[in-house]
Amino acid sequence: MNIAIPTRPADGDVVSVMPGLWWLRVPIPFKLDHVNVWLLEDGDGWTAIDTGISSPRSKAIWRDVMSRHFGGKPLKRLLVTHCHPDHVGLAGSLCTDTGAELLMSRTEWLWTCWEQQISEAESRRLFADYIARVGLDEGVTWDEVYKGGTMAELTDVVPRRYHRVQNGDRLDIGGRTWQVMTGGGHSLEHVCLYCADASVLISADHVLPRISPNIGVSQVEPESNPLGDFFDTLGTLAALPADTLVLPSHNEPFEGLRQRIAEMVDHHTQRLALVKDICHAPKTIAEASRELFPRQMFGYDIRLAANETWAHLNYLVGDGQILRWTDDAGTYRFQRA
Ligand SMILES: [Zn+2]
Repeated sequence: MNIAIPTRPADGDVVSVMPGLWWLRVPIPFKLDHVNVWLLEDGDGWTAIDTGISSPRSKAIWRDVMSRHFGGKPLKRLLVTHCHPDHVGLAGSLCTDTGAELLMSRTEWLWTCWEQQISEAESRRLFADYIARVGLDEGVTWDEVYKGGTMAELTDVVPRRYHRVQNGDRLDIGGRTWQVMTGGGHSLEHVCLYCADASVLISADHVLPRISPNIGVSQVEPESNPLGDFFDTLGTLAALPADTLVLPSHNEPFEGLRQRIAEMVDHHTQRLALVKDICHAPKTIAEASRELFPRQMFGYDIRLAANETWAHLNYLVGDGQILRWTDDAGTYRFQRA
């Protein structure tokens, strides 16, 4: 199918992408100021992909869109691609209010539940442990990092019963078959949806047209290799047809999936070489991060940058190019092998 790329909708409004598929733009109060939601006509109801964060504004947008664009039909299913607040934020209240079934991968659902359930006291303890491990010493505080909102503030509690989707599943949505493709890197079991008949990929955060999704180590799995997982995922997506129309969660739909994937692989490969260079002498994650991201940063961005640096370091540890050890203060150190 040859689909013209639509002009982006205004905040809180929808435009048609192709018959039966609509693009809703939900504003979010961050530097990245919106998330794209995809609305699919589904027989006697609708299936939606992702939600925006939980806020009075996004709730009002959803109420308005459902009353103006759903033709009196209900939201039947809500598929959430991954656990980040701009995607899962409203899932709890939307499912409760509409009776829609929640579809998620198991790891993303479990992870959301875990993040929503830890107390603030525990979150502060984990943060102190994180600061020590990463070697951040420039007065980065919990309050500063979470001033944009904690998971508990940005999301509604997700339903305690959900429909698990897993890699290879085929979902019939409005007479079209959508194949579930899961992958790691940006989150643990991130879901993309591919429709071969229409040649459309709902890529969520895995392939974005202008920015590279954050690929970071989580302190919960300090020795994990999310960049390796991301390369694997991109390898799978690169095998899709070259003329696939990509519907990303941020910015505009685009064509040129393979070229965009090649650019991202290139970007990370260059960053790996840089990180290896930076580690000619022993470095903490924070020290390496300040060299890899030299512009001045604040709050949550410092954490994102450190976690992404950590991902590059762990990748290089994995293939033997960098050594990792823990010093007496419990801080990781890295040096070129
Ligand atoms: Zn995300």
